[in-house]
Amino acid sequence: MRSLFAVASRPEIVSLAGGMPNVGALPMDTLGALMSEIVTRHGGTALQYGSAQGDPGLREQICEVMSLEGIDADPDDILVTVGSQQALDLVTRIFVNPGDAVVTEGPTYVTALGVFAAHQAHVVQVGMDRAGVVPEDLAETFARLAAEGRPAKLFYTVPTFQNPMGVTLSSGRRHQILDVCRRAGVLVLEDNPYGLLHYSSEPMRALRADDPDGVVYLGSFSKTLAPGLRVGWALAPAEVRRKLVLAAESAMLSHSTFAQLTVDRYLRTQPWQAQLGEFRSMYRARRDAMLQSLAAYMPQDVSWTIPDGGFFVWVTLPDGLDSKAMLPHALAARVAYVPGTGFYSDGRGRRHVRLSFSFPSPDDIRDGVRRLAEVVGEQERLRDALGCAPTPTKRFMSNSIHLS
Ligand code: PMP
Repeated sequence: MRSLFAVASRPEIVSLAGGMPNVGALPMDTLGALMSEIVTRHGGTALQYGSAQGDPGLREQICEVMSLEGIDADPDDILVTVGSQQALDLVTRIFVNPGDAVVTEGPTYVTALGVFAAHQAHVVQVGMDRAGVVPEDLAETFARLAAEGRPAKLFYTVPTFQNPMGVTLSSGRRHQILDVCRRAGVLVLEDNPYGLLHYSSEPMRALRADDPDGVVYLGSFSKTLAPGLRVGWALAPAEVRRKLVLAAESAMLSHSTFAQLTVDRYLRTQPWQAQLGEFRSMYRARRDAMLQSLAAYMPQDVSWTIPDGGFFVWVTLPDGLDSKAMLPHALAARVAYVPGTGFYSDGRGRRHVRLSFSFPSPDDIRDGVRRLAEVVGEQERLRDALGCAPTPTKRFMSNSIHLS
């Protein structure tokens, strides 16, 4: 993945690979003035150590943000983290011992798999369809793991505008999933960085809104403000939150006070809900450009999900094609994507491709999808001629570290 992102960042390549937010759409002058004021007027605090749990004022603001998704929370139960990525790591650190079972959606967020691997978890992935994870499959998985003598410790889910599939757990299934987890006594880890980037209607109700004791909720300002600030959070039941604060203290002493005050001031003084509306229109236009060009250019037997928010479309290639083997051909045609295999812990996903529409312009998206469609068509012709999928021809080299 690292090699891929380095190649994908070359200017001649249209990258539909990384899920970078389009921070260029932010009011930079306003943010600059706000940051400058924080240093000149509140430098004594902003440049000082803070508490491991995070700035109390920001934690109050975070409660307001979460109320948009039906969550009623106490600022005391929030831990501010270095992006939600750190929250994911801390929760795993306190719950998962080597060999413990962690259940995730299949496919799931690649860097969550990295965290679980780092903690030597035994990852089990449960099937998804276009309405999200399948409750019956989840119940069966929990029962099987319990019968094997290693009951699941966590169920990690990105229920809304999932990374990588772009699908959303339906309202009907939300209660079923909570019920299945409650009965099995498994803690839900709800990762929700995209929930407020919805392209129609109202935001989805968070799982946490309906089960304060059974869900640890992870949130982030990376997609709704800026990932460079590295401000995310965990909302957890009090006894879990206390352990998370201790774990955070040993991991980083305190989070950047400056970054926290920046987010706090932004939320208190700027029209952040209007800015969210602008992000939604911009990303919706890019999503539409991607869906229209997939429909216009892709061969008949290619299918894809239709995301109602977030950054990603999940494409299923025709039988016999291999997204990993196809990647060098796509890069030669100057378009990049992430092969589906990155999102499974066991090498599955070869017929899938994750496309992101968050960063390139609509024109670049159309160009990129057209180039990719030509590559897919060419691979189909080769498959038909050879009777099998073509193999990779190149290795790429690089040392970039951008993942998202
Ligand atoms: N969870 C998911 C599903 C993500 O897609 C990402 C970022 N791509 C993260 C967590 C981490 O986000 P951050 O650390 O920037 O808040």
